[in-house]
Amino acid sequence: MKTSEAKFREPQGERPKAVKLAVLPGDGIGPEIVAQAVKVLDVLKRDGAKIEMEYGNIGGIGYDREGDPLPESTLKLSKQADAVLLGAVGGPQYDTLDRPLRPERGLLRIRKELNLFANLRPALLYPELAGASSLKPEVVAGLDIMIVRELTSGLYFGQPRGIEIRKGERVGFNTMFYSESEIRRVAHIAFAIAMKRGKRLCSVEKANVLECSELWREVVAEVAKRYPEVELSTMYVDNAAMQLVRNPKQFDVIVTSNLFGDILSDEASMLSGSIGMLPSASLDEHNKGMYEPIHGSAPDIAGRDIANPLATILSVAMMYRYTFAEAATADRIENAVKQVIAQGYRTSDIWTAGGTKVSCSAMGDAVVAAM
Ligand code: NAD
Repeated sequence: MKTSEAKFREPQGERPKAVKLAVLPGDGIGPEIVAQAVKVLDVLKRDGAKIEMEYGNIGGIGYDREGDPLPESTLKLSKQADAVLLGAVGGPQYDTLDRPLRPERGLLRIRKELNLFANLRPALLYPELAGASSLKPEVVAGLDIMIVRELTSGLYFGQPRGIEIRKGERVGFNTMFYSESEIRRVAHIAFAIAMKRGKRLCSVEKANVLECSELWREVVAEVAKRYPEVELSTMYVDNAAMQLVRNPKQFDVIVTSNLFGDILSDEASMLSGSIGMLPSASLDEHNKGMYEPIHGSAPDIAGRDIANPLATILSVAMMYRYTFAEAATADRIENAVKQVIAQGYRTSDIWTAGGTKVSCSAMGDAVVAAM
C-alpha cells in the first residue's frame, strides 16, 4: 500500500509529450456539454498544449451504433488514453432493454475495467449562487466539501446477487462486500486529499449494524496512523445524511463506500444549487482518471442547447489537477468559471433574478472568453 500512497501524493509530474484523451459524449445532453468542454481544451491547444482527442461511443449510443453500451473499440480507446472525458449516458428509450445492454451497465463496466476505484466529488458553493441552494444562504455560504466514494466494490458489485424464487415467492438479494485492500487504497487517497485541504477526514459507515462497515472502520483507523496530521472522525451514514443538511460546513473531506457515497454525494450536490455545476473524477492507482459531470443525460432538456456545461468544463479542470498534475491549468479553467459566474452568466438551471440567461453553447463561449 505504500506504493499507492506514494504515487498519489506525488502525481507523475512528467507530462506526456501529447496527452491522449478519450472523449465519450454519450447520450441526451452529453454531446452538447462535452462540446463546450472541448472548446476549453481547444483553447489550451491554441496556447501550446499538445492534446490528442479521439471520440468513442458509450451508453445508449454505443448500443445503437455498435450493439453494446461499452463497445470493445471504446474500451480499447479508453485503456490507451491518459484520461477519459465522459458526458452522460441513459435515456427512457433504453429502459426496457435487457439489463446487460442498458447504458448504465456500460458506465459501471468502464469504471471496473479501468479500475477506477476512487470517485472524487467536490460540493462547492459559489457565493453568487447561494440563493440557488435549497438551504439558507448562511448555512451553505462558503461550502467546500470533497466526497471520496469507493466506486468498484461494495453493494453494487458484490456476489451473489439476483432475483429468484424461494419458497414460492420472488426474492431479491445483493451482497455488500469489501476486502481490506479495497478499503485501504481508497482511504489512502482520501487522507492524501485531506492533507492538501483542511486536514480533516470523516469516514462514514454503519459499523453499528454492518460487519462490512466494522471492517471499514478498522482499516481506515489503521491507515490513519500514516497520516498523523489528519484529524480522523467517524460518523454513521444516517447521521451524516442529517448533518449534511443541518451543518454541512463541519465537513472537509468525507470518505465512504459505494452505496453510501452515491446517496450522500447527490445530497451534497443539492447544497450547491444545481447538479449542473458539479464535476467528478474517478481515479485508478496511477492517477489515470475518467472525468465526468455528476448529473445524468437529462433527456427532458436534451437537444435544446439549454443544459449547464460548467460541470463538464470543471471536470476538465479536475483532469488537469489530478491526472496531469498541472495545477496552474486547473486554476486557469476554474478561475474562468468563477469569472463567468461573477459576471452574471446563468444557464436556466442556475438562473436567478438579475443574471443574464444564456444557452449551453453561449456559456461555453463565455468561459473561453474568460480564459
Ligand atoms: P439527470 O441528472 O439526468 O437529471 C435530473 C434533473 O436535473 C433533470 O431535471 C435535468 O434536466 C436536470 N439536469 C441535469 N443535468 C443538468 C445540466 N447540466 N443542466 C441543467 N439541468 C440539468 O437524472 P435523471 O433524470 O434521473 O436521469 C436521466 C438519465 O440519466 C437516466 O437514464 C439515468 O439512468 C441517467 N443517468 C446517468 C448518469 C451518468 O451518466 N453518470 C448519472 C445519473 C443518471
